[in-house]
Amino acid sequence: MAERRDGTVVCPGSYDPVTNGHIDIITRSSEVFERVVVGIVNNPMRKDKTLFTAEERKGLIEEATAGLGNVEARIFSNLLVEFARESGARAIVKGLRAISDFEYEFEMAQLNRKLDPGIESIYMIASPQYSFLSSTGVKEMATFGGDVSDLVPAPVSAAMTRRLGDR
Ligand code: ADP
Repeated sequence: MAERRDGTVVCPGSYDPVTNGHIDIITRSSEVFERVVVGIVNNPMRKDKTLFTAEERKGLIEEATAGLGNVEARIFSNLLVEFARESGARAIVKGLRAISDFEYEFEMAQLNRKLDPGIESIYMIASPQYSFLSSTGVKEMATFGGDVSDLVPAPVSAAMTRRLGDR
């Protein structure tokens, strides 16, 4: 058996922007594990394709999780298993929405296991009220003037209005 590290897990994602569905997974993880590191992917090849910069995404996650004492947000641009190792995490926690998420996540979990068998992948089933929610969907709705205030934390909703208004 792999050596037991501390009770740290990593919740990775692009979080462009963070939604109530992400916050649900982060909050539930923080109730189960000692420490949760929210890992924000900074992919330099996709920089012009994100609505918010990695720093902005980090700031919004920090605002939304300020009430959770054992959660911190960090930006990473290396391999997820490397980032997990650096964070002292023994496992990666991800949310699973539907069958469509399953196929991709199945592949990612196998690849990550091959890269580092010491890092476990754990999947948390999305809460029903968020199982339809994605960052992409929220951005599309907001682009066309839809009200997203029930789907994302209040600072995110405000930041989206500002950002999309600038465009
Ligand atoms: P998205 O798919 O919304 O662009 P990310 O790539 O940032 O989100 O996803 C980060 C993690 O959060 C993934 O594990 C993803 O499955 C999970 N996730 C995203 N939206 C939800 C949701 N509404 N409920 C539960 N988990 C979610």
